[in-house]
Amino acid sequence: MTKPLSEQPLSPRTASRLDALLIEGSFRVAAEARALEAQGKQIIHLEFGEPDFPAPTHIVEAAVRALREGDTKYAPPPGIPVLREAIAKAARARGIAATAEGILVTSGAKPMLQYAVFAVVQEGDEVLVPDTGFPIYPSLVRLAGGVPRRYPIVRQGDGYALDIDALAAAVTPRTKALMLNSPHNPTGWVATAGELEAMAKLALANDLWVISDEIYDGLTYEAGGSPSIAEIPGLKDRTIVIDGFSKRYAMTGFRLGFGIVPPGLARHITSLIINNTSCAPHFVQRAGLAALEGPQDCIVEFREAFRARRNMFTAALDLIPGVTAPRPAGAFYAFADVREALERAGISTGVLATRLLHDFGVAALPGTDFGPAGEGFLRFSFAAAPTLLERAAGLFGKCIESLAPASGIEQYAIPEAL
Ligand code: PLP
Repeated sequence: MTKPLSEQPLSPRTASRLDALLIEGSFRVAAEARALEAQGKQIIHLEFGEPDFPAPTHIVEAAVRALREGDTKYAPPPGIPVLREAIAKAARARGIAATAEGILVTSGAKPMLQYAVFAVVQEGDEVLVPDTGFPIYPSLVRLAGGVPRRYPIVRQGDGYALDIDALAAAVTPRTKALMLNSPHNPTGWVATAGELEAMAKLALANDLWVISDEIYDGLTYEAGGSPSIAEIPGLKDRTIVIDGFSKRYAMTGFRLGFGIVPPGLARHITSLIINNTSCAPHFVQRAGLAALEGPQDCIVEFREAFRARRNMFTAALDLIPGVTAPRPAGAFYAFADVREALERAGISTGVLATRLLHDFGVAALPGTDFGPAGEGFLRFSFAAAPTLLERAAGLFGKCIESLAPASGIEQYAIPEAL
């Protein structure tokens, strides 16, 4: 086992807080995949949560125009006023009572997540984080001196759901905040109005902050979209909504996100921004403005493409003996349930993911990268070309077939189309 960073023989010594950090599995698997590619292997990349579409032209043009017009200097730390206004307007259209003073623009959603945690969590505070869930949540909580307490998102019928009783049972007198993520990475769960109401009740009864990561808003496939907990009466003043442009506008590399925060918190988070990046780049903010004020067809176009891929890919995975792939209601991940296949083969999810990458050339993430509840699951991003997804499903079928042909798994006939 590798030693904690703070115990490694670096001189001078590093700070022990480095041991609190977890990294996203996608960066680890991508590095492993690139090393295999350097040896001449072909890899299908389904590890990253990144739309494969280029950013829409009008958004790129707005950034270029802004650069040419001289938006190359520092911007106001909380964001340029026109963009804060536009974000507040879009939030109101969703039903969140936002005003520009409560909008903070950051370099991606991730810094805003960090600011939110740093603003409300102190030494010893407990924070409820989803299991499975984005690994950055427990990492940031520990970095802030807090203690993450995991609550389960469970497989239920043909999808995933919140176990509200387990969530309620995880609350203690030291609980300070509830982190939630809907649409959810990695399962594609979208919180129902009832689930949000139950979480809101819990937050009110226990005087909790709510940090609601809504980065996949706009990427839902069922009627009703993804409501925000901040819309519930009484919740706005204790909720920090985390959102951004990365996913629904295919702008991951622009690094542009934002928070919708109670106005009383805005100046504190502005101090955190000043202590970190000073501001998000001005010309990138102009691109964000173009995204919000320009035609919105790109969101519909991306979403419909993802829907078709979701349907095709989960159907192909479902054909594999020992594997079931619930259709996600939102985001762009298939969280395949491989428990039956693993049980028969007597191996862990991590071993399966490694074998899939090294022997079959498909990069996916073991569910355990998203918490202990991920044992028995694999996350595939379907934000990739349909031909690649078809090939990946075929290769995954062969991988499962190769595990334990003598142990009762029926032979898997690779469909012609794959
Ligand atoms: N939150 C969740 C749940 C994510 O899955 C991601 C990216 O994968 C982020 C936040 C980070 O978004 P950004 O790239 O805008 O920092």
